[in-house]
Order: sequence, then structure tokens, then C-alpha cells
Amino acid sequence: MKSSYDAIVIGAGQAGPSLAVRLAGAGRKVAMVERHLFGGTCVNTGCTPTKTMVASAHAAHLARRARDFGVAAGEVTVDMRAVKARKDAIVMKSRTGVEKWLRGTENCTVFTGQAVLEGPKTVRVGEDVLEGGHIFFNVGARPLVPNMPGVDSVPFLTSTSILDLEELPRHLVVVGGGYVGLEFAQMFRRFGSEVTVIDKSPRLATHEDEDASAVIHEVFESEGIQVRLNATCIHLENRDGEAGVGLDCNEGAPHIGGSHVLLAIGRVPNTSDLNLAAAGVDMDERGYIKVDDQLRTTAPDVFALGDCNGRGAFTHTSYNDYEIAADNLLKGESRRVSDRIPVHALYIDPPLASVGMSEAEVRKSGTPALMGKRAMTRVSRAIEKGETFGFMKVLVDRETQHILGATVFGTGGDEAIHCVLTAMYARQTAALLTHSVHIHPTVAELIPTVFGELKPLE
Ligand SMILES: Cc1cc2nc3c(=O)[nH]c(=O)nc-3n(C[C@H](O)[C@H](O)[C@H](O)COP(=O)(O)OP(=O)(O)OC[C@H]3O[C@@H](n4cnc5c(N)ncnc54)[C@H](O)[C@@H]3O)c2cc1C
Repeated sequence: MKSSYDAIVIGAGQAGPSLAVRLAGAGRKVAMVERHLFGGTCVNTGCTPTKTMVASAHAAHLARRARDFGVAAGEVTVDMRAVKARKDAIVMKSRTGVEKWLRGTENCTVFTGQAVLEGPKTVRVGEDVLEGGHIFFNVGARPLVPNMPGVDSVPFLTSTSILDLEELPRHLVVVGGGYVGLEFAQMFRRFGSEVTVIDKSPRLATHEDEDASAVIHEVFESEGIQVRLNATCIHLENRDGEAGVGLDCNEGAPHIGGSHVLLAIGRVPNTSDLNLAAAGVDMDERGYIKVDDQLRTTAPDVFALGDCNGRGAFTHTSYNDYEIAADNLLKGESRRVSDRIPVHALYIDPPLASVGMSEAEVRKSGTPALMGKRAMTRVSRAIEKGETFGFMKVLVDRETQHILGATVFGTGGDEAIHCVLTAMYARQTAALLTHSVHIHPTVAELIPTVFGELKPLE
């Protein structure tokens, strides 16, 4: 059946639903297309399930450490079925909430199925042919399955399929020491699995500063997670019925045998099956849809939001893309992606949160800078909670005193970082923070202190 719309939104991820509802609320006739799970990656296979499971893992970890706090607890056992049931219930509530919201929105018609372009303004969803004034892609990304030797012969898990495990892996081998791999590694170790993390780099979390990688390593070692770095020739192999990973390391055994292998080595955008050429929408060499600073693609009236445009890989960046597109279209504003200050968190425990430039980026830029740093062992709230891994670090432009970036790696870091983020959005100097009085005892209360202890970055 053929029908016409003012806007066609493809993908109900973190940008699509809010955009569809806002456009519909503004009186536009909207078609919303989703091929699989409403809420996309974050709700179904990303943020929500992982952070729900990280909470279960934290409970197990704390129970094992109960004696440190003067509390007697018995033997700690983890029921993976119960962990999964809790996670599924939270995910399902969110997923159905998004779907109901869309279906209950006046002016918004929901289509379920794979959307494919048939022309510059024409989208096919099964038997339905939709014609639209504006087209918005919010199609997201999926786990990368690399073309590595052995990948066809050994069963492996991805960040999606591992969420369905109802039994505890005896030995989980995680290939990839990035955000996703690290979160699962620590989580499953805390559930009770033996865990080995393998990476080809010389350190974990290579997107972070070296001091952060060193603390992550320290945290992992303290929990009995094996880490194998500089693995230059990673391949999957089956030995004696075990799913294993072969690696060519500078030191240690050349093969790690495990009961389960998780491949966590990146993500690819869901763009190859959209027939983008039919509308003249260009992709880059990695398959991301090319956009300008206001999220316009190379085709008129066609926009790409979220992970598929390669300008962000987080829920908050995708949601901000929605805000930019909606405000520019409906309010005539000129919001831009480049106005966004980079911010992210790595949800191992303790969490690592970062805003703006890293120390490595500041050094590389050659900006004369000042740096302040304090170990969590000198933060009273962390000491009181018995969670003293990590540090906080701030970077300031030596001439203008503007804040260049900050990292809070430690208990409560994912919340505490926001006072620095807000000061940066307000384009304030470090003085705003040094003069502010924070609540005692919090992790955030030490941020003004660190800004008051700046030294030249040599
Ligand atoms: C394990 C894991 C943990 C994560 N944790 C965090 C976190 O803690 N914090 C954070 O900020 N980010 C996290 N992320 C990243 C986050 O999930 C994504 O950045 C976020 O979901 C934004 O995605 P999106 O809006 O671009 O699209 P997605 O959420 O991926 O949604 C895209 C939607 O489009 C649909 N679709 C695709 N192609 C078509 C088509 N042709 N027709 C119709 N529908 C289509 C898909 O089915 C999907 O529902 C995590 C990711 C993973 C994998």
C-alpha cells in the first residue's frame, strides 16, 4: 500500500522515537519504521541490560567483601537465571514503553519491518511504500564479527548473545579490551567465571589516558582477571573440545582455552542494506552515513542520527542528534554537532568518566596547560566506602584558564563529572569550580580542590 508522510523516521533507537513524537506533536504526519526491537541497542542489548547486570555483579562483589565492612555474609552464589530474569524484566518494560508511546501518538503511524530506499523520497517496508518529505535514519550499529581465522569453526558470543546466557561460563575469554569487553569481563568475573581478556594493544582501553589503563589493569588483577596484551595474531581455534583463542604474545602461553569466547572488538553501522544509493546518500569507507555539522546527509532533506553517522557512539550523542535535528527543523535554530562537548563513561566498577580533552590530546595539541590530579585514596568519601581505586584529573588552558577536560575514575565518578561538564558548557574558567562549595562528603567535593592544585603540564 502506498501512503505519504511529512517525515519518515527509520529506526527506533535513541533518536528516532523522540524525533517522531516531537514532529507528530508539531502537526507533521510521521511514519516510524522499526525492523526489530523498539528502543534499539541501548534499551535491548546495550546500556540498559549491561548496567542492570553490572548492578547484579556489584551486589555479588560487595557480598564477597562483606567482612571488610564488619558484616558477616555466607557463601556467595550467583543464579544466572535470576540475573537474566531481572535484566529481562527491566529491558521489557522499557521496550514496551517505547512501542506503546509511539503507537499511542497522534499523527504517528508505526510500521514494523525492514526499511529499504526505493528512490530519493520513497521507502519500502514489506508491502508498504512510504513517501516522505524528510527522511531520518536512526539505524544504529551491530557487533562487528571480524574476518579472523577460525571464526567459522568455533562458536563465539557477541555483546548481544552473551546477554541470553542462563548458565555461568566456566572460563570466559574476552577478545577486545575496549569498553564493551571490559564491562563484560569484570561482570562475569564477579558472577564467578574465570575470565581472560585478550587485546592486540599494549594496554587496555586505549582510548583513555595511560594512567587510566594502568588503574583498570590494577583493578582487574585485584579481582583475578587474567589480561593478555600485545596479542599480535589473534585467531579462534578448537582444541580438545574447548573454544579457544590462539595468540602470538610476547610472553605467556600461545593459546587460551575457555568454555566461552566473547568477541568484543567493535561495531559496524547498519547501513549496507538500506539501498542508500537510491537517494544519493553517501557513506564513508567504513559504512557510516556522511553528514554535515547539522546532520544533513549528501541527499536533500535526508538526515542521519545516532551511531550510523559516526559522529558519536553513545546514547547521549544519539539523543543530542535528535535535539539538533528537531530544533533546527521546527524552531529554525542552527544547532550543530560540533557544539557538543565530548563526554563518556566506562561502566566497570569503579566507573571511569571523562569530559573534553584527555591528557594525551592536550599534550598532542601543544596547548600550554595546567593539570591537577588526586588519587582516590585521598578522597574521604571513597575511603569511607572502601573503594579507593582510581583518581581524578583536570586540565586547564594555562592562558585563558578555561577547562580543557577532566577525568573522574573512581566511585561515583559517572555522576561527579557533571559539575565539570556544566562549567564547560557555561564556558567558565577554573575559578568557577575553585570558588564553589560542594557537599561534604562526596567525591565531587574534591573537584574544586583539584582545580586549586594545578601545576604546569610538562
Ligand atoms: C554492550 C553495550 C553497552 C553499551 N553501553 C552504553 C552506555 O552505558 N552508555 C551509552 O551512552 N551508550 C552505550 N552503548 C551504546 C548505545 O547503545 C548506542 O550508542 C545507542 O543505542 C545509540 O544508538 P542509535 O540511536 O544510533 O541506534 P540503535 O539504538 O542501535 O537503534 C537502531 C534501530 O534501528 C533499527 N533498524 C536498523 N536498520 C533498520 C532498517 N533498515 N529498517 C528499520 N529499522 C532498522 C534497529 O532494529 C534498531 O532498533 C552500549 C552499546 C553496547 C553494545
